[in-house]
Amino acid sequence: MPLIKKNHFQVKYLNMGNFKRTLITTALPYANGPIHIGHLAGVYVPADIYARYLRLKNEDVLLIGGSDEHGVPITLKAKNEGVTPQDVVDKFHKIIKESFEKFGISFDVYSRTSAKVHHETASEFFKKLYDGGKFVEKTSEQYYDEENKQFLADRYIIGTCPKCGFEKAYGDQCESCGTSLSPTELINPTSMISGNKPVLKETKHWYLPLDQYEPWLKEWILGEHKEWKPNVYGQCKSWIDSGLQPRAVTRDLKWGVPVPLKEADGKVLYVWFDAPIGYISATKELTDDWEKYWKDPETRLLHFIGKDNIVFHCIIFPSMLKAEGTYNLPDNVPANEFLNLENDKISTSRNWAVWLHEYLEDFPGKEDVLKYVLTANAPETKDNDFTWKDFQNRNNNELVAILGNFVNRALVLTNKYFNGEVPAAGELSNYDKETLLSISAIKAEVDKSLGNFRIREALKYAMDLARLGNKYLADEEPWKVFKTDPERVKTVLNVCLQISANLTIILEPFLPFSMEKLRGFLNFDKMNWEKLGATDLLRPGHKTNKPELLFEKVDDKVIEAQLQKLLDARKANELAEAKAKPAKESIEFDDFGKMDIRSATVLEAEKVAKTKKLLKLKVDTGIDKRTIVSGIAEFYKPEDLIGKQVSILVNLEPKKLRGIMSQGMILCAEDADGKLSIVSPDQKVKNGSEIK
Ligand SMILES: [Zn+2]
Repeated sequence: MPLIKKNHFQVKYLNMGNFKRTLITTALPYANGPIHIGHLAGVYVPADIYARYLRLKNEDVLLIGGSDEHGVPITLKAKNEGVTPQDVVDKFHKIIKESFEKFGISFDVYSRTSAKVHHETASEFFKKLYDGGKFVEKTSEQYYDEENKQFLADRYIIGTCPKCGFEKAYGDQCESCGTSLSPTELINPTSMISGNKPVLKETKHWYLPLDQYEPWLKEWILGEHKEWKPNVYGQCKSWIDSGLQPRAVTRDLKWGVPVPLKEADGKVLYVWFDAPIGYISATKELTDDWEKYWKDPETRLLHFIGKDNIVFHCIIFPSMLKAEGTYNLPDNVPANEFLNLENDKISTSRNWAVWLHEYLEDFPGKEDVLKYVLTANAPETKDNDFTWKDFQNRNNNELVAILGNFVNRALVLTNKYFNGEVPAAGELSNYDKETLLSISAIKAEVDKSLGNFRIREALKYAMDLARLGNKYLADEEPWKVFKTDPERVKTVLNVCLQISANLTIILEPFLPFSMEKLRGFLNFDKMNWEKLGATDLLRPGHKTNKPELLFEKVDDKVIEAQLQKLLDARKANELAEAKAKPAKESIEFDDFGKMDIRSATVLEAEKVAKTKKLLKLKVDTGIDKRTIVSGIAEFYKPEDLIGKQVSILVNLEPKKLRGIMSQGMILCAEDADGKLSIVSPDQKVKNGSEIK
């Protein structure tokens, strides 16, 4: 290896093999809600697979994670719930951390940005840039809420988006069109705290002059990192081409890392300045040797993120690191696109999500199934859709029918014919040889795909080994051959068991819980990646254990329950969101007086034949006994209505419905979802009492 100076332009001369170690960071999840499948598919599952793969190759690798606990949404949530911001982040940090552990995301450290080590690290980082004259100080007019005596940064302010006209755009971003905004661009700005119209007031802040880094970023990304994924490279190019502006790195807020300057009382670091420094603090929390992972140019830095974070990890954070001067820059930022759910955008606020902590409760022991489905369907190059039907199909048709079926049959037959002992292979046929040679060929494909962060493709290749085994076993039919040629069966099962042992290596990064189980069945220790391809992993005479099923089928009922859960969440959300219709025009009392509304009691009730909605009722109105047809059959059973007091508009013109003359109308309240609820007197009254 030639000398590597601390010149980032020379990094291009390195290839992966020349790095001595790898530091993998994962986007810090925001601690105002739990983790959902979109987070997992975008960031944590691919990062975990990659880290496990490198560990299996005996490489020095750290997987870094932590909760992002600052920023305005957390303070707003705390205010809404009447608790402190610390209460909010304590609650969600715990939920997030525990669900990651149970799911098997193999973090070397999972930290949090409210930790002392982070406050110190972020403070020092700011101070170093400040002392080095890397910031620009600017006084500008910003929105201020006079009632609450507070500046309104970012999400403290909403208004109409100047680009698309969306009325609930935030001060930092329009979630409808995705444009990033500054609060003064909003039309009709409103304070999220008081609902008042804010005033402009002068305040001083520190800015990172990104415009000064533009020529360098152009060369570093557009020139030196053409190998980055097209979606990442393209977004960087578009940011750089449209011209970079100085970016404020401080805010007038109380919650966050205080700006370490005397003149900055009441100001904190902007959450997007402090959050990526969280990767450094977390590494510090893990090891005293943290500088080796961040500053030695022979360490490779990788950021796993979702596409919404590309600008922060490819442009802003690298500019911060460059300004600081002693840190490595990311070698790659393999960002993913978004995962949708049942053809709709995943949304925390609309509760349209599959939550990890709920999945773990609903599907105990099936962590790997979710990992598998999210990887097989990963949104690597474009947005993708998660559906429960696809989850069921991939589980039943791939994990159960191919992988599970193959290893189970190989082990069951070994138990049946050879008392669980690995039989010795005799002379190999050409088919045997080809099959065994394919293992190394598949390994090469998986290496190539993972090396290019094509993790979905890598899984497909790894599963090809199970497909190969399954096909080989089906072609050779040892259960038939045993009757005539038991010697041949020894060879066939030997080949199958060698493939099974290789599967425990090749699938280990993707399906760690299941491969541990399979190693248990095979009575086989965990092997390094370099062993993959060997055809003598299991010696003749080696005793295997009695196998159980590696995967089990997922029933329709289970899938239907999950779909119902989503529909219920959607309905609850629609109801909560529904607004009352505006009032109708004013009327005179005489107009109201024309309506003759009486209390009445239901005497008889039956469904109108061949209709879904109609009930035929006989009611005692006090004036007479009459028939009324009412569209409430979906909400009331006939037998529950008998004896019930209702309110009836008795002087409504009679009308024929399905051949029945309906004399009047039963009054109902209609809920936002169309559900009807009969309006009854609060206490029993005499039939015919006027309602006015
Ligand atoms: Zn917009």
